[in-house]
Order: sequence, then structure tokens, then C-alpha cells
Amino acid sequence: MSTVLGVVGEHDDTAPGAGDANVRLFARARRSIPGGVNSPVRAYGSVGGAPRFLASAQGATVTDAAGREYVDLVASWGPALLGHAHPAVVEAVQRAATRGLSFGAPTQGEVELAELVRDRVRAGAAAPLERLRLVSTGTEATMTAIRLARGATGRDLVVKFAGHYHGHSDGLLAEAGSGVATLGLPASAGVPASIAANTLVLPYNDRTALALAFEAHPGRIAAVITEAAAANMGVVAPLPGFNAALIDLAHADGALVIYDEVLTGFRVHPAGWWGLEGAADHALDVDLFTYGKVIGGGLPLAALGGRASIMDRLAPLGPVYQAGTLSGNPVAVAAGLATLRAADDAVYRAVDAAADRLRDAVHTALTEAGVAHVLPRAGSLFSVAFGLTEPPADYDTVRAQESWRYPPFFHAMLDAGVSLPPSVFEAWFLTAAHDDDALGRIQAALPAAARAAAAATPPD
Ligand code: PLP
Repeated sequence: MSTVLGVVGEHDDTAPGAGDANVRLFARARRSIPGGVNSPVRAYGSVGGAPRFLASAQGATVTDAAGREYVDLVASWGPALLGHAHPAVVEAVQRAATRGLSFGAPTQGEVELAELVRDRVRAGAAAPLERLRLVSTGTEATMTAIRLARGATGRDLVVKFAGHYHGHSDGLLAEAGSGVATLGLPASAGVPASIAANTLVLPYNDRTALALAFEAHPGRIAAVITEAAAANMGVVAPLPGFNAALIDLAHADGALVIYDEVLTGFRVHPAGWWGLEGAADHALDVDLFTYGKVIGGGLPLAALGGRASIMDRLAPLGPVYQAGTLSGNPVAVAAGLATLRAADDAVYRAVDAAADRLRDAVHTALTEAGVAHVLPRAGSLFSVAFGLTEPPADYDTVRAQESWRYPPFFHAMLDAGVSLPPSVFEAWFLTAAHDDDALGRIQAALPAAARAAAAATPPD
């Protein structure tokens, strides 16, 4: 089976020392789990070989079923900002668990988490997040934000950008990033055409396309949903002024703006991308925010938030329905609270510094190996794009890269004990636990991986 990234199964993972416990588990998993995994990118489909079945994770490292340790740059796809199994988070989870696993009733912890997020997402007089509703996954958060925007505006259409990923709800899968991009799919089977027709997909960073969409559908667009900085097609930051222009265009037509900060929220700055952007510019007038990953500290927790005038349209106050048996689960809330409380300025400085150092090291190794590349970044998030000379601004440019150089690069790093995201369309995640030792191990692995990327040849 061929994918946009190369040929699946090219890598010989059955070679001695390549982790046969993982190979055996993968074969066994495929007999009881579709594709052997519970989320598609985990299957290593675009890099080939058997995925590493993880047994434990601590600080900056993960350990697989064969007992092999890797320096980890996946960080559970983002949540592990502090590093894996941070003692304060583990302790908070253990304490919460002894008090009961789930109540299906309001708790004090939920209130504290809502207050904590509200206090973080604030810039002087600008306090766009007055209410927070907890859900369990980022998919639920964006799905609910869309429903709320439709309920608040009485309109149906939604604008999203090509290459942005907002979870796997029906209306948001068209030209999505992350696993959908990795598998080279335009959309998902099973999404009714009538639902897809309500989603307008536009090229990212293209103000003209957005202006034309509002001109073509005046008074019909409920919301523009955007990754606050795109990081699911590799990293593609908004061009300077793009998010502000987007907000102006949307508001001029009475549409709402949803900042999807599931990935960037509380990772790139104490107040997410909104805070980082506002620090350099001015606080942007965003209507709704969605969060996931870091806010749950590794447990299933996500959220949507915004001004009271919009958020209070949710049930039970308003007519927009949303609910969840496990919403605000007390153990997940304890993990989220402990994570955010520990994520102080020093943590963000450490993650930023680690990202700077690693990005420089990747650049040096690829340059010395003669591999053309760019390392697009958004705060501490970055990714590699081969064969480009400028940081990409949209999905078409991202897709035009020499992505076939990634599988040999990835496997050389893996063989040397470094676990990268198993797709070129994903960001690399640093944590506050990536100390000198962890970064040194990654740096030592880079020259050979860069040479493997240089030696790669395009698929026929
Ligand atoms: N939005 C963004 C920006 C994401 O990166 C993701 C997941 O990667 C989601 C939404 C969906 O979150 P979840 O996987 O928790 O459903």
C-alpha cells in the first residue's frame, strides 16, 4: 500500500535487535484491534516497521515492550509538557483516585480549573474567557464549539483551513491534518455529503480567499475555526497579521472565531498561542477557545471556553445541548490542575530553550549532510520539512516537500534510541524534562539520521 510518504513496510523491523517483542505484539494486536492501534498514526504506516509498544514513560524517556529506552519527542502528542509521570501530577492523580474515580456530579476541582484557565487567558483588560466547560477529548471540544457558534449565530456554514486538524467529528475532517494527512486522505468515508457541504475549506494564511468566502456567503457563516498556530501538517505558523485579519473579516460579517488551542494551549505560553501572539501584538478578540492535551496533564480532559454571553447559551442555561458522563472527571481534573499549577515561567523557559537547542542541532546535522530543509516553528513547537527553502505557509506547500526522506531519518533516530513522531506531518514535542543528557543523546543521533535522509531516493 503506497502512501503520500512512501512505501509502507519498507523498513525491515524484523532484523536482530530491532525489538522483536514489538513485532510480536503488533502481529497479535492486528488480530483483535483494527490495524493493531487505537489511533491511526500510531501504526507507523508512513514510516514502516512495527510501532513501539510502550510499557512505561518517565521524564524525557519512554520504554518499549522489549525493554528499550528512547528519548521521546512525542510527549503523548503534547500533554506531557512537564515530562512523563511528573511526581506532582502522579501524586495528585493517586490522591484523587483514592477519593473516588467518577461522581457524575460537580466538584470543587472543576471550579478551580475553570478559574485557573480564566486567570491565565487574560491580557490587561482583555479577558475573553469568562466561562469554561470541561469535556473529555479535543474532538468533543471543537465539535461543541461549532454547535455553540451555530446556535449563537443561527447560521450553518463553517470555515476551516486545509491541513488543520480539529479532531474527528464529521464536519471537520475535510482536508484535515494529522493522521488524515499522513494517510493522504482528502476526507473520511462515512461523512454524509449534506454535512460536508456545510464546511468550506480554504487555503491557510490566505486573507483573500477568506474575504471571498464571506463575499460569496454573506450572513451565512457561523464560525471560522482555526488552529491558533497550525501544527498538524507539520508546524505552519500564521503569517504576521493573519489571525488578526481573520478575526476582523469574521466579525465584520457577524461570524464567530474559534481558536483551536487543543495542541498549542498552555504548551507554547502560559496563555497558549493567544498569549504568545498577544505578547508580541495586542490581545486578539477571539470568541471561543478549545483546549485539550496539556490541560489534562495526560488524562482524558479537554475544554471549551469564551465570553459568558456566548458560553451561557450552553445547556442548562441555554438551548445548545452538550453533556458527558465523564466530563470533568475528578481524576483527570486533578491531573490538569497539578500540571497547570506546576507549569510556571521556568517550565516555559526550559521548554523554549530545549526547542531552540534541538532545532539548531537538527539544522546543523541536515546542513552538514547536504539535505535541503526548513524547520518551521511556532513557539516551542517545530517540525522538519525536507526539500523546501522557505517555511511553508499552506498545506499545498507542505505536501510538495520531499517527505520520502523522513522514513529513513525517523528509523535512524529510532535505532539510535530517539523516538520521533512517526509522520513528517506532526510537530516535535519537547518537555521541561528534556535536560542536557536527553538533548545530548538526541544530538548524538542526528548526524547518522541526516546522512540517511541524504541517501534517501524518491519512490517510483
Ligand atoms: N484540535 C487540535 C488542534 C488537535 O491537535 C487535536 C488532536 O491532535 C484535536 C483537536 C483533537 O483532540 P483529541 O485527539 O483529544 O480528540
